[in-house]
Amino acid sequence: MKQEDLDFFKALLTDRLNELLSHADTTVTGMTQPKENYADPTDRASQEADRSFELRIRDREHKLIKKIKKALERIENGTFGQCEMCEEDISIERLKARPVTTQCIKCKTREEDREKAMGL
Ligand SMILES: [Zn+2]
Repeated sequence: MKQEDLDFFKALLTDRLNELLSHADTTVTGMTQPKENYADPTDRASQEADRSFELRIRDREHKLIKKIKKALERIENGTFGQCEMCEEDISIERLKARPVTTQCIKCKTREEDREKAMGL
């Protein structure tokens, strides 16, 4: 991959990471703040639903943060843009759409087909 492409993806991933990290911070702060004690059980139930929704989002963000960090590592060690299955180059278009991807479209499609066949 060309150096200018690597620079492009590095900037893109770093931006995305910083955005996620700053958001993760505010979410955590929001959760540690003492909330009002609702006497009404309906309010409490909706508060708990909010909380589990928030946790699911955080879980997804956490996974994405890990993927972005791995992608940045791959930029550093020179394997970014290489399919981890067949070691072919992943197309720039695919990387632009999904910079954290680690598989080329052929391997990804094959994997999805296998998952479908297994009923996943
Ligand atoms: Zn591949």
